[in-house]
Amino acid sequence: MDNIYNKMLEFAKKHIEPYTTDVDKNATFPKESFDALKKERITALLVPKEYGGMGLSLEEHAQTVLAFASTCATTALCYMMHNVATNCIVTHGSEELKQKFLPKIANGEILLALAYSESGSGTHFYQPELKVTKKDNKYILNGRKSFVTSALYADYCLIDANSIDTEGLDNWLVHKDLMGVSYQESNWDGLGMRGNASMPMLLENVQIGSEYRLGEAGSAEEQIFNTVGPFFILGLSAVYSGVALNACNTIIDYAKNRKYPDNTTLSNIPTVQNHISKIYTKATSAKHFTLAAAKSGATGQEDALAQIISARLNASEVAVDVCTLAMKIGGGTAYAKRIKIERLLRDAFAAQVMAPSTDVLSTWLGKALTDQPIP
Ligand SMILES: Cc1cc2nc3c(=O)[nH]c(=O)nc-3n(C[C@H](O)[C@H](O)[C@H](O)COP(=O)(O)OP(=O)(O)OC[C@H]3O[C@@H](n4cnc5c(N)ncnc54)[C@H](O)[C@@H]3O)c2cc1C
Repeated sequence: MDNIYNKMLEFAKKHIEPYTTDVDKNATFPKESFDALKKERITALLVPKEYGGMGLSLEEHAQTVLAFASTCATTALCYMMHNVATNCIVTHGSEELKQKFLPKIANGEILLALAYSESGSGTHFYQPELKVTKKDNKYILNGRKSFVTSALYADYCLIDANSIDTEGLDNWLVHKDLMGVSYQESNWDGLGMRGNASMPMLLENVQIGSEYRLGEAGSAEEQIFNTVGPFFILGLSAVYSGVALNACNTIIDYAKNRKYPDNTTLSNIPTVQNHISKIYTKATSAKHFTLAAAKSGATGQEDALAQIISARLNASEVAVDVCTLAMKIGGGTAYAKRIKIERLLRDAFAAQVMAPSTDVLSTWLGKALTDQPIP
């Protein structure tokens, strides 16, 4: 744990932190950070060694995302989605697809994103309405995906659609420059996560061959729930635990250094000490719960999915709670945006609405714990 987590913290300090303020202020994609990520081949984290990657898995995914998020939630989220799609290729791609994609993902030539959400199905992204028809040996995709994070920067998007060959869903890898693909280039103006570059993607008569489908026709629902789901839900847990850790470190530092005329500091006030104690306990618990859930998934424990969902629910709540309390400690200075807590609070609010939303997930957890099918 310590090696990869600490290495990624160092990377974040050098290549992510210098850009976080501008990424938020100007709502720009963290391109410099991703250039460095590609150069240092961190895009290769989940690519097996035989394809030129690092051959790592769920635990290191969580550790890396957590380390990045404790500096910048936006960068961590975009990176997390790249890993999720990569892992789906590793697990379900044909040998031909793996040969074509994995070495290039490993060396930073290909960055991936997820285009699942649609305006119609909203948080229920596993119920797409994208239309698929077939002509000769090509599949033709028509429709609109909403909220594509890393749009324009990711080379390929993993897209879910109803299968035309059989019942169920298909997962497709669609290149951003394929004829018929375009983005509604409105600048993402979200409350937080402002560098995400999320925007709608239009697919108009996009022709694609079956070699870009992951797995057998109709198998994507199983991919979404068994492969994409755990890596994505755990990834969100890591992102929002990272936000809580960032707020915790920031406010402790601020409380120690904010001086009154009598030379006492904020941190000398017992009420503030109690708040800090609560913040630290919550943020640290979110971190350790996320890492424990990752371990349970990696070691195939029976209740791994329940742990992963639960860690994500916990982290989502903790991030908002910790940032809210930190805003109180930061006083007018925090409210006036002179320290970064307000940014972290805005980022934290995304946790509850990102699909599967916390309300939906909490129902799923209840089902999982009582042996009922999800969703
Ligand atoms: C920062 C950010 C980045 C994103 N990036 C991507 C991306 O890269 N790719 C992608 O595919 N999507 C992405 N999304 C989309 C996102 O994950 C959701 O799909 C989208 O926010 C759903 O929006 P909606 O308004 O249509 O939700 P709705 O479906 O209208 O839901 C609205 C509210 O109703 C609640 N609700 C709905 N159904 C139920 C139910 N059955 N039980 C209980 N509560 C329910 C939800 O919890 C939610 O709070 C992103 C979203 C955000 C905020």
